[in-house]
Amino acid sequence: MIEIRVDEDACVGCGLCVKDCPMEVLQLQNGVCYPAHPENCMGCLSCHEICPAQALEHKGAVPSRRMYISMKVCNMLRKVI
Ligand code: SF4
Ligand code: SF4
Repeated sequence: MIEIRVDEDACVGCGLCVKDCPMEVLQLQNGVCYPAHPENCMGCLSCHEICPAQALEHKGAVPSRRMYISMKVCNMLRKVI
């Protein structure tokens, strides 16, 4: 399983990673990002890229941009259908 680490001192609580994650892995708790469902992380590293504070680290993740895009499309279709 991918281990998600949040640098709580660096996180500014913007919530960008929470909105961006297609697997709903991340949540805000007391104004700081929190990996609520790390078991669902597919390691796309999109949240890592979007974070303005470089507060996210994913140990054991192999980037899969294609999978990220597929999940985004699936989630969009799920809302329409
Ligand atoms: S790596 Fe991808 S799936 Fe994992 S928490 Fe970040 S955005 Fe979500
Ligand atoms: S994008 Fe970065 S700074 Fe913003 S809530 Fe997520 S971890 Fe914190």
